Amino acid sequence: MAVPQRRISKTRKRLRRTHFKLEVAGLVACPHCGEMIRSHHVCPKCGYYGGKEIVKVPAEEEK
Ligand SMILES: [Zn+2]
Repeated sequence: MAVPQRRISKTRKRLRRTHFKLEVAGLVACPHCGEMIRSHHVCPKCGYYGGKEIVKVPAEEEK
């Protein structure tokens, strides 16, 4: 079985992992209210999708 010739030092391992980061996929700003929402979904805050109100949301004011 192929095996690494030598151990990767802590520094080299950590340097490689500096390029890793957590990322929330498919999150965009709502064009109507600016809230961060999932793309291709009706905005849960203002109920808009594609420039039209699709769902009535009872309260639209800020908390
Ligand atoms: Zn919205």
